[in-house]
Amino acid sequence: MANKPFNAFKLAQDQFDSVAEQLGLDQATKDLLRNPDREYHFNIPVRMDDGTVKVFKGFRVQHNDARGPCKGGIRFHPQETVDTVRALAMWMTWKCSVVDIPLGGGKGGVICDPHNLSMREQEGICRGWVRQIARNVGPVQDVPAPDVMTSGQHMVWIMDEYEKIHGGKFPGFITGKPVGIGGSLGRTEATGYGVIYVLREALREMGIDIKSTRAAFQGFGNVSQYAVKLYKEYGGTPVCVSCWDQEDQKSYTFSKKQGIDIDALLNITDRFGGIDKKQAQAAGYEILPGDAWIEQEADILIPAALENQVTGETAPKIHKNVKIMVEGANGPTTIEADKVLKERGIFIIPDFLANAGGVMCSYFEQVQCNMNYFWPKDEVLGKLDAKMTDAYLKVSGLARKKKIYMRDAAYMIAIQRVAESCKMRGWV
Ligand code: NAD
Repeated sequence: MANKPFNAFKLAQDQFDSVAEQLGLDQATKDLLRNPDREYHFNIPVRMDDGTVKVFKGFRVQHNDARGPCKGGIRFHPQETVDTVRALAMWMTWKCSVVDIPLGGGKGGVICDPHNLSMREQEGICRGWVRQIARNVGPVQDVPAPDVMTSGQHMVWIMDEYEKIHGGKFPGFITGKPVGIGGSLGRTEATGYGVIYVLREALREMGIDIKSTRAAFQGFGNVSQYAVKLYKEYGGTPVCVSCWDQEDQKSYTFSKKQGIDIDALLNITDRFGGIDKKQAQAAGYEILPGDAWIEQEADILIPAALENQVTGETAPKIHKNVKIMVEGANGPTTIEADKVLKERGIFIIPDFLANAGGVMCSYFEQVQCNMNYFWPKDEVLGKLDAKMTDAYLKVSGLARKKKIYMRDAAYMIAIQRVAESCKMRGWV
């Protein structure tokens, strides 16, 4: 029998249904929260470089705004589907809620492939996207951000068009902007550092000295590079990272038992997080197959590359020393792997808690824009640490109290807070 195609929205709804049942939510609250509040589908006509007009399909999904304006990225992807955008919008609601920032969940997308579009054409898509939705997004309604294949440049075009439409300056309408034009210091580090702040707290609770630990990382992009850096600064030993090799079209693990030299490794890494094999070999790295990161002798695993990596097939290969897994990536662990991890008693810090540093810093960017006053980097990172630590302690406290899995505890806190806000507003 052919495998059913993966539907992210179905998965998001199943996860919600299971926690809603455990929380005993009433039917109206369940009906409200298992579907988006609003969604917009629109055409974006763009005059292409060759003079023809091409019509692109755009979306914005606003899952829930009971706790504050919706927040979430805009993705440019040729295989974008509205169900993926719906799922991602719902996960944003839970992510903002679990770290207790006053925002709801949203996500947007355009079906397009930026590899085949000039910068002028991409600018046309950005300006066209916001022209279609300008009345339904804004600093007090819905605040977009960069995501897959969109960058700070795209955000500035979108902001510029929005400001032309509304006649004024509204930098708090969109985040992920470059520093100097409304961006926040610390955003580049935020997700990776956030991963290590929560790891530090978990180790402290377990009575393990971070200096005695070894960690294996999957990926060496934005999240992983800063996670490795801070973990090393705290005295831990990162034993390997892995990355995708564009030339060979497969991934490799770069291992050094005595620990990675992060600055030297960054010097031989391209802007997509790909490491030069020859130079790595010369620098004493053992180059292993892509999956080998999971088998390394380590106390901590940090998947920070992409989804579906810790599976029913790979999870049994996890080294017996591993005590903690911190999910830097979104959705790195399958349901089958979760069962293996539970049985082995490996402590999980789930993705929407562990990697929330990015959205937290986006929230700080919005706050700074609204005040028109920008904080120094140390202040941003200090606030990030305090909020991430607080969120972690609430989730681990509930997991201990109810003797439940960390992922379930995180979902319970997140969903409960949103459900209560809906109730207090009189929506259900
Ligand atoms: P990135 O594109 O900067 O880096 C990805 C890294 O993973 C690269 O080193 C790449 O070579 C590697 N990689 C890709 N395929 C691989 C494979 N099959 N095996 C091993 N390595 C592979 O991405 P990023 O921004 O670091 O994001 C990583 C993950 O974290 C994604 O799941 C993303 O959704 C999630 N995330 C990122 C942020 C953020 O602020 N950047 C925030 C929240 C969640």
